[in-house]
Amino acid sequence: MKTPVYLDYNSTTPVDPEILEAMIPYFTGKFGNAASKSHKFGMEAEAAVEFARKQVADLINANSNEIIFTGSATESINLALKGIAESYNGKKIHIISDEIEHKAVLDSLEYLEGFGVEVTYLKPDRFGFINPVDVKNAIKDNTVMVSVMTANNEIGTIQPISEISEICSERNVLFHTDATQAAGKIPLNVVLQGFDMMSFCAHKMYGPKGTGALYVKNKNPKIKIIEQISGGGHEKGLRSGTLNVPAIVGFGKACEVCSRKMFEEYKEQTVLRDRIINNLLRKIEYTSLNGDEIKRLPNNVNIVFEKTDSITLMSEVKELAISTGSACSSASPGLSHVLSAIGRTDEESRCSVRIGIGRYTTGEEIDFAIDKLIGAVNKIRSKFF
Ligand code: PLP
Repeated sequence: MKTPVYLDYNSTTPVDPEILEAMIPYFTGKFGNAASKSHKFGMEAEAAVEFARKQVADLINANSNEIIFTGSATESINLALKGIAESYNGKKIHIISDEIEHKAVLDSLEYLEGFGVEVTYLKPDRFGFINPVDVKNAIKDNTVMVSVMTANNEIGTIQPISEISEICSERNVLFHTDATQAAGKIPLNVVLQGFDMMSFCAHKMYGPKGTGALYVKNKNPKIKIIEQISGGGHEKGLRSGTLNVPAIVGFGKACEVCSRKMFEEYKEQTVLRDRIINNLLRKIEYTSLNGDEIKRLPNNVNIVFEKTDSITLMSEVKELAISTGSACSSASPGLSHVLSAIGRTDEESRCSVRIGIGRYTTGEEIDFAIDKLIGAVNKIRSKFF
């Protein structure tokens, strides 16, 4: 077993060797610009992009023409939220979201509020669930869109998105979901679940960083989005910029591999997840779980070790690569808005640690992590008790 043991898979994942292998030819020999269709190089690149688009679409049961490639899930979310809002041309519109979204959603909505868009932020319950009834009650005559994430990046709670999406469709309101953490880990079907838009990316599913996708439903209704990056009219004019062909090829392959392995990985990771949760909760006093026990991502663990500051804890377990709160928003450090929204005190928030399990995590690594954490928590607490 190699240390440090990587247990931060909710933050990012290594590229799977099978995926890297698929990408490599597109850096050198097959380096064409997918928009240069007048010669073999361009045509080869375009064909690879279209093949990947189909692989990405297949993962979520979409059509290829409903996938727009972007540079990240953050960019997809910006395009969905700002792109829809701008299509209303300054009219007084209302959007519904919630307090535990990723900053990509929250900051985009704050930006739109600056332009007069009214936003309602729903409160989650103590497990992190958004109640579909609250969504229903918040819809007004001028509500144009609801954005609720599929699964939370910090506490792993999986939202009742099919119910929420059904309510939106009954009221003719668009439904967008940030599925960055969920795509490739739990089955998603945009047709059966009735999504209008969905954002996700490759680097959470063993593909490369720097590539994302926005699914936009193609009919009933035909959704109008205003592009956020203007230029050469790539991606049907919705996202200009020369396509990152190797990364897109990797994204496609990552989706194909996830479709193939999802069921098996779900089972394996759930066992490891529950092993670490049950051991830590049973063997360490004054410890509790953040998020729901059952409706939770198979790869997410988030635990409060009372009287054990998470920064100190991490410095005691240097053999483990784990994180405090949300590594995704560590560009803006501070207390976790997710933990405070579910009712955790500042003190509990400071004592919370996130552990992310993935494709390469072994039982041996999990047992090692359990032992290390028990030893470190007891050592730190010996100063208090
Ligand atoms: N949404 C969620 C739920 C995330 O976990 C992340 C992770 O960073 C993002 C959005 C942003 O994704 P990206 O890194 O592709 O911009």
